[in-house]
Amino acid sequence: MRSRFSAFCRGEAAYLVETHEKSARGPDALRDVLKTIRETEWTNLIILGAQRGGARDQEGHVEFAAAFKQKGPGLIGGGAADGFQQMRERSFFVREEGRWLYVDGDQLPPHQPKRNEPCWCGSGKKMKACHG
Ligand SMILES: [Zn+2]
Repeated sequence: MRSRFSAFCRGEAAYLVETHEKSARGPDALRDVLKTIRETEWTNLIILGAQRGGARDQEGHVEFAAAFKQKGPGLIGGGAADGFQQMRERSFFVREEGRWLYVDGDQLPPHQPKRNEPCWCGSGKKMKACHG
């Protein structure tokens, strides 16, 4: 999960396609990944929970909130006033030959930290002091 987030940040498209479970990825997987990399600047990852996914498991779920900004002209950001957006997802992973592969995920409503907790965008500011 974290390695896929890092790969999105670094633009490692081949790794992202390889770690997307074969039957779950579409015929245009590489093109889609390249488009996402081109249009998205990822700024933060918060792991909110995990079920299974341990050394003896063959599958697992990870719930996360990822903050991002859209890049490029003509893209209008929703979410926070300064263009930060959040994707919260509960992802499903399977293990094949010792390697964790992303299958798919369910989108969830945005994660909302409490006022005195760090903001989800990765600024390091408290929630109440961010996006003012
Ligand atoms: Zn923020």
